[in-house]
Amino acid sequence: MSLTFDNKVALVTGAGRGIGRAIAEVLGKAGVTVICVSYSESSCGSAADAINATGGKAVAKAVDVADPAAVAAASEELLNEYGNIDILVNNAGITKDNLLFRMSEDDWASVIDTNLNSCFYWVKGLARPMTRKRWGRVINITSISGIMGNAGQTNYAAAKAGMIGFTKSLAKELASRKVTANCVAPGFIKTDMTSRIADAAMDKILPFIPLKRMGEANDIANMVSYLASEEANYITGQVFTVDGGMAM
Ligand code: NAP
Repeated sequence: MSLTFDNKVALVTGAGRGIGRAIAEVLGKAGVTVICVSYSESSCGSAADAINATGGKAVAKAVDVADPAAVAAASEELLNEYGNIDILVNNAGITKDNLLFRMSEDDWASVIDTNLNSCFYWVKGLARPMTRKRWGRVINITSISGIMGNAGQTNYAAAKAGMIGFTKSLAKELASRKVTANCVAPGFIKTDMTSRIADAAMDKILPFIPLKRMGEANDIANMVSYLASEEANYITGQVFTVDGGMAM
């Protein structure tokens, strides 16, 4: 099925690497103008260059998504330039795993700030013009950890579960303005984030994945691109797991 995107502008956070980069590239290929946000200039710069090199339209913007003032300033600047951001994909995320009794307050706070609070900051910055236009998509990348829980990830699972509650509430608030809000919950996807998992630990996880393999970043990007399209206009407040069947 070919998806419809009429002159849409998307902002994808964490677009420099991994899942976010795949999302940015799939949207770019579909003709969407993509604002690639990541922490470092070189990372989002190379993502935008790759999209532009294959005939798409992209710009790079380095923003620390955990910094409310930086997100507010970037949002204002982008709205002045583009008038409206139609599609917001909150994908930037980090893990700082540890068992609860060993977890520092800093590791708790930075994971909540980067994964969860960032969603609040970007939606506050960008959603009002979507409501005025009576068209908008907010897609938040959560995790099966936020659905199932995971030992060693109380901070991350709390942030990801928080994103689900945030998204469902947002969906109810914005529905009358034809702005949808959904979550995509990846399972184990091959990126830098999961490259830190030791082979022996992965061998213990694989038997719990019915499809018996890790996913690819494009598996997530394809779901996001569908939810961002015109065709998904009757879907809101949902969580779509893309996890090889793990959280069934
Ligand atoms: P990744 O490869 O580690 O890439 C993370 C991206 O987020 C990078 O582009 C990074 O920017 C950006 N980022 C991190 N902190 C940021 C900050 N403070 N401000 C701006 N950008 C920041 O991660 P991934 O595996 O693609 O994961 C993407 C999302 O999917 C995350 O939300 C993650 O929790 C979620 N997820 C992943 C998996 C998985 O198996 N990989 C599973 C479930 C959920 P730089 O490039 O500049 O460093």
